[in-house]
Amino acid sequence: MSERKGTITVETGDIFPIIKKWLYSEHDIFLRELVSNATDAITKRATLARTRNTELPDGNIKVLVNKTNKTITIEDNGLGMSEAEVEKYIAQLAFSGAEEFVKKMEDAGGPEKNTDIIGKFGLGFYSAFMVADKVEVESLSMEEGATPTKWTCEGDTDYTFSNSDKKDVGTKITLHVNSDGEEFLDEFKISSTLRNFCDFMPYPIGVLDEEKEPVKPTKEDGTVDEDAPAVAPTPSIINNTEPLWKKDPKELKDEDYKNFYRSMFPMDPEPLFWIHLKVDHPFTLEGILFFPKLNKNQPFKENNIRLYSKQVFVSDNVKNVIPDFLSLLKGSIDSTDIPLNVSRSALQGDPNIRRISNYVIKKVGESLKKLYRTDREKYESIWEDIGIFIKYGCVSDTKFDETMRDMVIFKNADNNYVTLPEYKEKIPADKKEKLENKVLYFEAGKSDYSLRNTLKEEGIQSIETEDHIDPHFMQHVETKKLGENEYKFASVDSEIHNVLDVENTTEEDIKIKDLFTKILVGETKEGQEPDLSATEVEIQKIKNSTSPAYFKTDEQMKRFAKMAQSMGQNAMFPTKKTLVINPSNALIQNALKIHEKGNNTELVDKICHHVEDLATISSEGLKNEDKDLFVKRSTDLIQELTNLAL
Ligand code: ADP
Ligand code: MG
Repeated sequence: MSERKGTITVETGDIFPIIKKWLYSEHDIFLRELVSNATDAITKRATLARTRNTELPDGNIKVLVNKTNKTITIEDNGLGMSEAEVEKYIAQLAFSGAEEFVKKMEDAGGPEKNTDIIGKFGLGFYSAFMVADKVEVESLSMEEGATPTKWTCEGDTDYTFSNSDKKDVGTKITLHVNSDGEEFLDEFKISSTLRNFCDFMPYPIGVLDEEKEPVKPTKEDGTVDEDAPAVAPTPSIINNTEPLWKKDPKELKDEDYKNFYRSMFPMDPEPLFWIHLKVDHPFTLEGILFFPKLNKNQPFKENNIRLYSKQVFVSDNVKNVIPDFLSLLKGSIDSTDIPLNVSRSALQGDPNIRRISNYVIKKVGESLKKLYRTDREKYESIWEDIGIFIKYGCVSDTKFDETMRDMVIFKNADNNYVTLPEYKEKIPADKKEKLENKVLYFEAGKSDYSLRNTLKEEGIQSIETEDHIDPHFMQHVETKKLGENEYKFASVDSEIHNVLDVENTTEEDIKIKDLFTKILVGETKEGQEPDLSATEVEIQKIKNSTSPAYFKTDEQMKRFAKMAQSMGQNAMFPTKKTLVINPSNALIQNALKIHEKGNNTELVDKICHHVEDLATISSEGLKNEDKDLFVKRSTDLIQELTNLAL
């Protein structure tokens, strides 16, 4: 056998151990690199065959493991390489890339964990040495009259060419696995790793354990056919070569999307809604983005969108490719304009990436708008899951804001969804002026429920808000006007006194105010510092209200406190509370009467405190330490009542 020896010319000493060590953390990447080289080779062969009008077999890739021999073999029927090509592309080019890599790493001052860098230096093939001590490349070029060749390299700068008897066009790469790669000598491990990287590769990838015994075939009824000769097991295909995003959306049914989603996220409930992306110009991009059903009990997981380049998995870190607010979506984006081996910082500056991002934002906005217009019922039915995402999008992206702001919906007091323009439209003409164009909001779990109903009876609706995204959204809408519509927001408890008709205050009312002030606030002695966080008492006659009192908030103060809270400065803002007593309420009137009779101060005291607690319960609820007292007092009062009934 004739052998030709060669040496890789590198200046940087022994680069093998250095790179091995630096790339150690994610060494399963070798499979992706070798299989994508195989994919490229098949595609190149297909392209050449087309231009030459020649026949060619279906592309196919095999990955074989052999525990006894400690080998992993990756075989393709791509275009193959001549000896000169192996020397040029594998030996010299790849290794000169490696040298550059080592230099860059040294300049950067040490190990860089980011393995994305391998590909940038054309080091894909080289990743084989992360798990192998010895690598053999056997190849037969598709060119007429080509002779097969075999290249062997044992993890240092020397290599050997020898003759090969390879019969089929294509390349076979054999890795003699070292102790670092032993875990890959397992069919299951290989399959699961490949599924992660190569789940949608365009050619079938078959995995097989070479040592698997031949088995007798099964008959039609499922039992083993003992009479038939045993046949060698065939590789099992691990990938779906035609991902749904490649197909024409017009030919797809809802069920197809749901099935596809299930295959990608088997543990998830059904998706709510999806967007099929397809664009050819000025860049190419295909993909499907799903709006998942959110599970509020589960922490939100990032990295739900998988990036592919020509069906080769690139990354599930989409941080720099799509804006944050879209990271709630799940699915896939496939674009040749996303470099296969991306370093994260390189992604940020890439103008293609910006364009892709803008396109995706636009598409998502348009699809939601379409759903809103054509199927509002469905839109409302998924709002609970998509609402946060849309509001977040409005706050963070101007274009998305322009498309979607008027399609943000809120529940009103009748439990119907309304947009902000719809809300405004429905305010009765005689109340418009009093409201000064404000949108009243009701904070779920915080605002006073009875106020909301009182307002509703007056024909004034309020929208229900929650604590996380809505304060930001409202603030955003207030400060950033879009078109003609201008909005100010005020909570029901800060605004009700302005909105309802006021009756003149009577002498009686003043007495009520004084009584409650005396009991709940106490008299400030002269020279004593006023307690800034103490409750203040006011009166407001609210007719037709069942509630004896409510806590009024100051919109500005409330927002200040919220902001401080979101910045972690809880203690700095003692928010003053104003208890507004409703003299129209019968219980309040009784309290005054009993007080004036003067013979049951204890009961008057109980009523006043009880009224305060009731207002607290109607709004944010009692603190734990106050609950006990409330229960005791309630029991006392009811007992007194029941005594009367006996
Ligand atoms: P890259 O894929 O980025 O070019 P690699 O180090 O992965 O870098 O591969 C170097 C080159 O070796 C490839 O560009 C290709 O020309 C050649 N090559 C690698 N694997 C194969 C293969 N299976 N069949 C044909 N050519 C291959
Ligand atoms: Mg490669």
